[in-house]
Amino acid sequence: MNAIDILKNRGLKKTAQRVMLINILQKKSISLTESEIKSEMGDLYDRITFYRTVQTLLDVHIIHRITVDNITVKYALNQLDHEHSGNHVHFFCKVCHSVTCLEETFIPENRISKGFVAEEYEVLIKGKCEKCSSHE
Ligand SMILES: [Zn+2]
Ligand SMILES: [Zn+2]
Repeated sequence: MNAIDILKNRGLKKTAQRVMLINILQKKSISLTESEIKSEMGDLYDRITFYRTVQTLLDVHIIHRITVDNITVKYALNQLDHEHSGNHVHFFCKVCHSVTCLEETFIPENRISKGFVAEEYEVLIKGKCEKCSSHE
């Protein structure tokens, strides 16, 4: 699906910022920080519009936020057709600092202790990514 279809699908108008943000995340197919997105956007970047755009896309589950640490937040596109889009884990590479969505690694709801109701999943595994571990 292209950016315009994704927005249409969620009943959102296509604005230059929304289309661009989705395009950037799609093109990179990896999670990005605000400053990484900013440098891709170039002149189109505007801080206030950026935050508004991000919030809108978060609200309708087009993208999700990954909190790496107190200062690093990354954004990634949701795999809309993926069953475990909401509860997959993230992998932080200590070597290249990339954060990857591990769509195939997820936490099944029935594996959470009885009586606990999961609403958000923020699982971050740290180590060496596929690329960095193959250099050894
Ligand atoms: Zn790496
Ligand atoms: Zn993810």
